[in-house]
Amino acid sequence: MLDLTGIYRLIDKRVDRESLGDLSWTGSIGQYLSLILENREVCRTVPQRLRDMIVSPCTEEPRPGESAPGNVGGSGASSGCLQELAERLRALSFQSGVVARTVLLCGSPEGKGPALVRGLMEGYESYSRTPEGALFSFRWKLAGGDAGGALEGGEAVPCPYHEEVLRLVPETERQKFLSDLKENAPDAPGPSLEGPLCPSCRSICERLLKKYHGDWARAMEHVEVYRLVPSAERRTALARVEGTSAGASGGEGAGLDLGVELRAGNRGILDCGDFGFLDGRSLATLAGLAETDASGSGPFLSKGLDFLAFGQVKDWESLKLSKDGLDDAFRAHVVEIQLGPGA
Ligand SMILES: [Zn+2]
Repeated sequence: MLDLTGIYRLIDKRVDRESLGDLSWTGSIGQYLSLILENREVCRTVPQRLRDMIVSPCTEEPRPGESAPGNVGGSGASSGCLQELAERLRALSFQSGVVARTVLLCGSPEGKGPALVRGLMEGYESYSRTPEGALFSFRWKLAGGDAGGALEGGEAVPCPYHEEVLRLVPETERQKFLSDLKENAPDAPGPSLEGPLCPSCRSICERLLKKYHGDWARAMEHVEVYRLVPSAERRTALARVEGTSAGASGGEGAGLDLGVELRAGNRGILDCGDFGFLDGRSLATLAGLAETDASGSGPFLSKGLDFLAFGQVKDWESLKLSKDGLDDAFRAHVVEIQLGPGA
């Protein structure tokens, strides 16, 4: 039976702080635990990171030769609008449990909303490359047979959703572990670690636990933590839902499968273009209101993801929230930012 002692026993303080600046850094889960016990900021959620990025001094004054995070300021959005966004994200940061993860930019004048989202994405990409903005995920190092023989020997299998490493702590122990973290830094916003691991990692983890007769620490020896470097080009933690931009020829987005986008955009930003193109089911999925499907991934999709979906909408009525009751539930799961004239 795993308890906190089992988790703490893994802690490995041999982390070369200098090497952390290296974007290709890799380490053990024990080294990662040591890192976050020292600095809780490492495991911030996306709303927390984005808020810190917006209010960081380099957002206001771009460094010489650097376009971002200064790009956020240069995105055409007024500082008032960015300030409001930062305030709303701050409020989310201190909420416990599942938080809103969809940001509706309402009534945006032509071009302003998309420019703001572009600026935020560029800013996030640059911020994540700085020591303050570093974020991490993990991959599984598996030998032939480790995962039921389904994988090639020696293959490293990254989590398809780039999940936060702490999500590997079994759900039964996570809350206790988070309380301990809170004791170390009472004023810092806590990470949100609700819900099960993603289906792929859950399956690998279960097979390893079976192989090692329930010994979680042994299973974790197969985990390699790495520095996650968001990139819009590689669709890593930054992604765009295609076919939802103004003038897109794809018509209405009914039947759009967001699975690929959610995998690509998790731990970062998902640019949804015009929310008016998305059907009710897609909107519900984005907001974390996904129903349990046959694959049983519902709890993960509604609670386990950590991203912010941004998009524009002319007014609330243009959203295709057809199902009864979805309107209210959706409102409770989104952040609305009014982009007035000049925003
Ligand atoms: Zn995963």
